[in-house]
Amino acid sequence: MMDFPLTLNWLRHRVQREFGATEVVTRRPDGRVLTHTYRDIALRGTLLAQRLIQAGLRPGERVATLMWNHHAHLEAYLGVPAAGGVLHTLNHRLSQDDLVYIMNHAGDRMLLIDDTLLSLYEALKDRLPMLEQVVVFNFSGAGCPEGYADHDSWISQTDAALALPEIAENDAASLCYTGGSTGRPKGVLYSHRALVMHAFCQAMVDGYGVGRADTVLGVVPMFHGNGWGLPFSAILTGARLVLPGPRVDADSLLELIEAYGVTLSAGVPTVWLKLVNALEKKSPSWRPARRLRIVTGGAAPPESLFARLARFGIDLRQGWGMTETASVITLSAPDDPGASESALADEDRNWRYRQGKPMPIVDVRIATDGRELPADGVSAGEVQVRGVCVTDSYYAQHLPERWTDDGWLRTGDIGTRDAHGNLQILERTEDMIKSGGEWIIPQELENAILDYPGIQECTVIAVPHDKWGERPVALVVEARGAALDTAALLRHLAGRFAKWQLPDAVLALPEIPRTAVGKVARRELRRTYAHLLGATH
Ligand code: AMP
Repeated sequence: MMDFPLTLNWLRHRVQREFGATEVVTRRPDGRVLTHTYRDIALRGTLLAQRLIQAGLRPGERVATLMWNHHAHLEAYLGVPAAGGVLHTLNHRLSQDDLVYIMNHAGDRMLLIDDTLLSLYEALKDRLPMLEQVVVFNFSGAGCPEGYADHDSWISQTDAALALPEIAENDAASLCYTGGSTGRPKGVLYSHRALVMHAFCQAMVDGYGVGRADTVLGVVPMFHGNGWGLPFSAILTGARLVLPGPRVDADSLLELIEAYGVTLSAGVPTVWLKLVNALEKKSPSWRPARRLRIVTGGAAPPESLFARLARFGIDLRQGWGMTETASVITLSAPDDPGASESALADEDRNWRYRQGKPMPIVDVRIATDGRELPADGVSAGEVQVRGVCVTDSYYAQHLPERWTDDGWLRTGDIGTRDAHGNLQILERTEDMIKSGGEWIIPQELENAILDYPGIQECTVIAVPHDKWGERPVALVVEARGAALDTAALLRHLAGRFAKWQLPDAVLALPEIPRTAVGKVARRELRRTYAHLLGATH
């Protein structure tokens, strides 16, 4: 057979050749809609690649993006890797300290940024010594601010004759940072091959089932795990893509679903909870014009969400994955694909509640103390994975303890597998908090709270929240005689954390309960305060 590298370059050529006329729809912040074709996107991606090389980008160097989901971000998805560069998507919801750390750790030399996010860059710029070039995309339509290179005119200076480098399939194409379970954010570098193979699996009928007849609504932020791979599987299959820009509230999404006949989307449970709340309140008889499938993941969805969406004819499935695994790599599926829903046994009927079966490019096992546990549906242990789209290291960070001696990634999630191969996540590394799809690390909050005068002990726990999934709540023990001033404590934290990372409540306790081995009894605390924030699920 021919030596044929599986690269994003190949995807770029293919989409231009095979699906050149297919639309990519972008909604701008002012609500106006821009329509491009895959041909436009691929050609502008090529120009961007040439322009980056002209500007001095060398193979393997990182180009950061601070962008919403839109056509120019998609061009960067194709163009940066085509230049031999590494697309480093930045999460603009992170705290300024984390962003500075991540950009310096990644050694970003160039930044492509939306004009609407420029103030964020301006607040950071004095702490980014390695950054040489900032190019501003005029997403708002208001024009490029003075003193910056305008994305479109910058690209128009491209030497279109410039040759692009040969890319090998194992070259790095993109980089994402994860909050992970402890400490500083960690970088995961994805190869061209991993992203292409993931796109193939995602497109399979037993994956997300992405095809040419689909209209895909790209809700997952393109800075989160390569937008869960959907931009690539849409490009691979020629599905129409709708990119919502900054507005992903329920009404805006419903508007796009209706206007474009969306058939497939994906996103964290919070997004779909908001959508179903809005439908139940305002449009109880709403139905999608075409069959609508949604994949949710990133956090455990409330079980009731499946039935609530089904009432509107929306088919919700669940996937599981991590930044370390490129994106979602297991998908819920019935055990007997031939059986109708009504013929399924009771225990099989809720197959959607489980995290599902692995895609063909990954292996999943449950292990504890170096021993693989039986797939009996009850033996719980750490979920470990390996495969084509699973990372074998963190970027420029040595953390060998995250892999087993025989080369599997230790995910930190606790789960089971059953005889049909279904993965079920029981809990994740106890102390992490996932709010609106983003991680909050309790340890960091605890350390900062303990810095505050008069606080002796502190534990931050996750408390269920209807809108955000979970929110942090701080439990503190005050030093004798101290009188807790919650507002002052929150002001103290506000300097170090982004607003969404701050605790929703601070409760003073006489003592923090411990387990038999002297650890904070987090599970017990979670149970005790499960309804503190009024969650109904
Ligand atoms: P991230 O790296 O931000 O994508 O987060 C990955 C983590 O999210 C996993 O290790 C799990 O703890 C959690 N997660 C992802 N999908 C699910 C799911 N379907 N159910 C429960 N937890 C999930």
